[in-house]
Amino acid sequence: GKQLTLEACGKTYPDGTRALTPVDLTVAAGEIVVLLGPSGCGKTTLLRMVAGLDRPDPGGRVMLDGRDVTTLPIEKRGVGMVFQSYALFPHMSVAGNIGYGLRVQGWPKAKRKARVDEMLATARLEEFAGRRVDQLSGGQRQRVALARALAPGSGMILLDEPLTALDAGLREGLRAEIAAMIHAQGATALYVTHDQAEALTLGDRLVVMDKGRIAQVGTPREVYYAP
Ligand code: ADP
Ligand code: ADP
Repeated sequence: GKQLTLEACGKTYPDGTRALTPVDLTVAAGEIVVLLGPSGCGKTTLLRMVAGLDRPDPGGRVMLDGRDVTTLPIEKRGVGMVFQSYALFPHMSVAGNIGYGLRVQGWPKAKRKARVDEMLATARLEEFAGRRVDQLSGGQRQRVALARALAPGSGMILLDEPLTALDAGLREGLRAEIAAMIHAQGATALYVTHDQAEALTLGDRLVVMDKGRIAQVGTPREVYYAP
């Protein structure tokens, strides 16, 4: 995975909303960091800056493995993303969805097939490889979305409330599975949620945000059980 560093990343929207006061954050290679906090605290804004969907205010820098990517557009950043609603291609097969980005990147066919097979196995989706995505359950679709985000092996993935749209029973089962898939690929992950149970299960470290600031950083143990 890649190391992510945010240096003094603030964000004021054109209408004057101060979504983030300048924040500093380092996520180590292979670490899953969960961003936690109430609605409106700036989680999505922070994620969008890492994705390249938004730029920090002047003076802020986003670095991946020491390389300044602050002004690189999303398609050049090579960061995988998983959202609350799947944004998969519903008419395409599971394998087609997982391999889509590889095809866009021009991976040769044999290499693409090998990587798609590997991701199908990691996501336990082998038996569904040829099935259309619109014939899968919600949980299966999110496993496809994660497999697709991990497939190019860029080493950095962003997840924005990937389980929120699923029912409670399904959410619980998927938490550990998502963490296992990310760790198996050695990817670095920023994971946004407002669900504490999710944060506890998934996060190597938690970043608690409040009103555009980082209020607390620590392991789940430090954040929840500190004296
Ligand atoms: P969270 O993801 O924690 O719910 P957001 O990052 O979405 O928080 O929002 C942080 C703050 O920025 C909120 O006050 C929100 O209303 C505001 N905001 C988000 N996007 C925009 C935008 N495009 N223009 C103006 N204000 C925005
Ligand atoms: P192609 O790119 O060969 O036209 P698709 O877009 O349908 O095929 O699939 C994307 C990738 O997934 C390809 O590399 C293909 O070899 C592989 N693939 C397609 N169907 C399956 C399957 N049922 N099992 C395993 N891999 C598959």
